[in-house]
Amino acid sequence: MLRSLLLFLSGQSWLRHWIETSSVAARLTSRFVAGPTLEQELAVCQRLNSEKILATLDHLGESVKSLEEAEGSRDAYLAALEKIAELGLSATVSIKLTQLGLDFSEEACRDNVERLVERAKAIGSIVEVDMESSEYVARTLDLVSHMHTKHASVRAVIQAYLYRSESDIEDLRGRGIPVRLCKGAYSESSDVAFPNKADVDRNYVLLMTKLLDEGVYPAIASHDERIVQQALDYVRERNISPDRFEFQMLYGIRRDLQRRLVEGGHRLRLYVPYGNAWYPYFMRRLAERPANVLFLARNMFKK
Ligand SMILES: Cc1cc2nc3c(=O)[nH]c(=O)nc-3n(C[C@H](O)[C@H](O)[C@H](O)COP(=O)(O)OP(=O)(O)OC[C@H]3O[C@@H](n4cnc5c(N)ncnc54)[C@H](O)[C@@H]3O)c2cc1C
Repeated sequence: MLRSLLLFLSGQSWLRHWIETSSVAARLTSRFVAGPTLEQELAVCQRLNSEKILATLDHLGESVKSLEEAEGSRDAYLAALEKIAELGLSATVSIKLTQLGLDFSEEACRDNVERLVERAKAIGSIVEVDMESSEYVARTLDLVSHMHTKHASVRAVIQAYLYRSESDIEDLRGRGIPVRLCKGAYSESSDVAFPNKADVDRNYVLLMTKLLDEGVYPAIASHDERIVQQALDYVRERNISPDRFEFQMLYGIRRDLQRRLVEGGHRLRLYVPYGNAWYPYFMRRLAERPANVLFLARNMFKK
């Protein structure tokens, strides 16, 4: 119930504007977001790299309102890629297609993404294409396949809550496209997604084992300790070496588990968001774990 309410509120633009510009923004978001500026983001990524943690930079700002805004997002990512190269960071970038103009023009969006993929490839990095709500899945996977054929240097994201994901994984595997596997963060109907968490978790494990067996450098993106343990058991039993896959987690979530994986010699990449347009990202994080609302409330009133 609280989860549905939080996901509903994440789509309310009036609330978004009011809260993003409020004076309490920094206090609210500091747990999940590096800060409003690229400099703050880079400082976090440098620290993570020094702790043997890889990073993926997310310039917040999905669902832009015009193609000019989409070009602004593309330029922000180009600036981030320049800095990744200049500082020698072990980092990728994570983009959302609605941030790069998909709602206005598929062609313009494709051009924007291509500029980023070309630049990422030139500096030895990659572009990870986040998966948004189900209405975007087919177009997103088409665009990723197109970029992969032309340039490589892209990673797709698959959401275990969708019924279609098993067949999408087969297709991506056939094309040799790397996949990040997550559970899925949007509010979806039972026509397209498993309504019960237990089924999502079961499907996650099924897809994870397929990717570990036959995928190209899969990324296991989850903070679910049982799933992480199952991945560790699976790779140990099958002698899959730690350089053939990576774990991914979100900045600020399950830092204890993050530390354990790194200490155990596993590759871990953290998804680190930055920028002013943090509201929808932040609300999805609250919805994933409504106890975060209490955590926040306590922090808000701490002196
Ligand atoms: C690197 C990365 C990239 C992602 N990219 C996408 C994407 O492109 N598209 C998409 O739809 N989703 C994406 N997600 C989000 C994902 O779909 C899930 O919503 C999110 O990861 C929670 O699922 P979980 O696997 O951690 O398992 P859950 O079963 O949700 O959580 C397991 C445990 O993790 C901890 N936990 C999980 N979430 C939180 C939280 N917000 N705050 C505090 N603790 C928490 C809790 O201890 C919880 O018990 C991404 C997640 C990661 C880690």
